[in-house]
Amino acid sequence: METTFVMIKPDGVQRGLVTKILERFLAKGYTLRGLKMMNVSKQLAETHYSDLSAKPFFGGLVEYICSGPVVAIVLEGKAAVSQGRALIGATNPLVSAPGTIRGDFCIEVGRNIVHGSDSVESAQREIGLWFPEGLVDHTPVAQPWIYE
Ligand code: UDP
Ligand code: MG
Repeated sequence: METTFVMIKPDGVQRGLVTKILERFLAKGYTLRGLKMMNVSKQLAETHYSDLSAKPFFGGLVEYICSGPVVAIVLEGKAAVSQGRALIGATNPLVSAPGTIRGDFCIEVGRNIVHGSDSVESAQREIGLWFPEGLVDHTPVAQPWIYE
C-alpha cells in the first residue's frame, strides 16, 4: 500500500470545491489517513516547492499557496501516488483530460486547485513535512469490497 499527499489549494477552498475534490479520491476507494485545514507559512510553501525554486513562477506560486487556507490530505491505497496523479490530471488544465479533477474544475496552470505527490519518494517527504504529528491508522470496513 502506498500513501500520497494531496493538497486542495487556496482557490479550491475558496471556490467551494473541497468536498468535490475529496470525493474523487474516496469514491475511487482510497483510505483517508490524514485531513486538516490550515494556513500555510511562506517557509512551508517554499520548502514544499523547493525543487521549483529556480523557476520564474516560484514567487507567484508561493504567494498563491499562502493566499488562503488549504486542505492537506493523506490518502492510502494500491498505487495511490501514480493513480492519485492520474485522477488529478495534467499540470496545465488546458491539457488536463476531461474527467480529471483539473480537467473538470479549473482553467489556468497558476490556479489549478489541487496538488498531488509525483513519486513515492516525494510523497514520503511531503507527508513528513505537512503531517509531522503523524497519520491516523485504521482499516475501513469496506476494504474487502475494494481489494480482492
Ligand atoms: N506552476 C505554474 N506555472 C507553471 C508550472 C507550474 O504556476 O508554468 C504551478 C502550478 O500551480 C503547479 C505547481 O506550480 O501545480 C507545481 O508545479 P509542478 O510542475 O510540480 O506541477 P504539479 O506537480 O502540481 O502537476
Ligand atoms: Mg509537482
